[in-house]
Amino acid sequence: MSVRFWELTGRQVDGRDLSVMFLPVGVLERHGLHLPLGTDTLTAVYVAERVAERVGGVVLPPVWYGSCMAMRNHKGTFDVSQDALVRYVVEILREAHRNGARLVVVVSGHGGNTVALHYAARQAAMETDLAVIVVDWWKDAAVEERRKLFSKPGHAGEDETSAMLVIAEDLVDLDSADYVEVERLPIRVYHKGIEEEIYSKALTGDARLASREKGEKWLSAVVAEIAEDVLAVARRLGITV
Ligand SMILES: [Zn+2]
Repeated sequence: MSVRFWELTGRQVDGRDLSVMFLPVGVLERHGLHLPLGTDTLTAVYVAERVAERVGGVVLPPVWYGSCMAMRNHKGTFDVSQDALVRYVVEILREAHRNGARLVVVVSGHGGNTVALHYAARQAAMETDLAVIVVDWWKDAAVEERRKLFSKPGHAGEDETSAMLVIAEDLVDLDSADYVEVERLPIRVYHKGIEEEIYSKALTGDARLASREKGEKWLSAVVAEIAEDVLAVARRLGITV
């Protein structure tokens, strides 16, 4: 049976254990010239579905609209406010809880959403007895594998492009793949000018080094690690999935 919540019929949902739900959250955002605008949503959905297939549970429809400061001047980027995102995600979490979820795993595909997602998770967890995991799949899991596999990762870089070659190869235009040196700042700084400069091509790292094989190795390590972590939390909560 499908792990996609929106594909279940009324009869199927009546018989389904809904204690564990996955919520993929992405954004519409420019990713260089070679990756689709929906990259961060497509990757989050892929990771959520593969983990759900392993541990059980259902995947909710993704949140397609997110918050993006750095790439907002590039055509193709939609930027909604942090406030709007927090409120929307809190309400989705409340509804998940009302439908029987005891644990929601928010699988985030976009760094610009991270602060808002943690804030929303905390708010929902304070209001109800729902447990919420927030995971930035590309940086919170399989950290060592990512370091070993990719010498020039980045936004739409070697790592993300490799993942997309696994997830939606037909949407990747490798002939347009490019390279932009990653500028490392000594500390996190919010400034329109600096962000626009760093992401002047909506790309960091070397997308030309991407391969499907590296993407497969990385994603399978990511899925295995998140699945293990989710199972550990479910056990801690006394949930049998
Ligand atoms: Zn991305």
